[in-house]
Amino acid sequence: MNNEEKQLKWDTTWLLFARMMADRHSKCASKSVACVIVKDEKPISIGINGTPSQHVNCNEIYLKQDGILYTSRPDHPIVEESVERNGTLFYRCENQEEHHEWSKQHEIHAEINALGKLAADSTSARHATAYVTHSPCHACSLALIASKIDRVVYSTGYEYGDGLNLMRQSGIEVIHLPLANEYFLEKI
Ligand SMILES: [Zn+2]
Ligand SMILES: [Zn+2]
Repeated sequence: MNNEEKQLKWDTTWLLFARMMADRHSKCASKSVACVIVKDEKPISIGINGTPSQHVNCNEIYLKQDGILYTSRPDHPIVEESVERNGTLFYRCENQEEHHEWSKQHEIHAEINALGKLAADSTSARHATAYVTHSPCHACSLALIASKIDRVVYSTGYEYGDGLNLMRQSGIEVIHLPLANEYFLEKI
């Protein structure tokens, strides 16, 4: 196996790890995102999108089913269309963009959570690689640039904002690595 193949194998492994962290541990009703920061072949930080600890989780007040957003917020008008989850009734949101607005105010993106944990421990992300399930938004791209990350590897495009060019302009190597279904069906 040459160096390029080895790198691809490790990139895929860390990206799969990020994907598993997101799928199993994100408490966002809309999107499961995780960021794993790897330096010198070791994971040094893991960030998952969500509210700060001690705060109410997104999936306690929002629920997404078949692409439709529902809420259990007590101030939301009671409408006929509802879904029950664990004994709580969630009503269909009239404004389907409501979660996006709420999320901007309350949820921390996975990349910021990962970088924040490093900052709390005074650990540098310089020359590290960030593996992210979704392409970083504008604000997270700026934070990754500021932290002197060398590489960013992501698997899925993200519809709100795009900081990929911003990172490339700053000399970060940006790699799009879609994860094939075969990894989930056969290799785990
Ligand atoms: Zn959310
Ligand atoms: Zn972001």
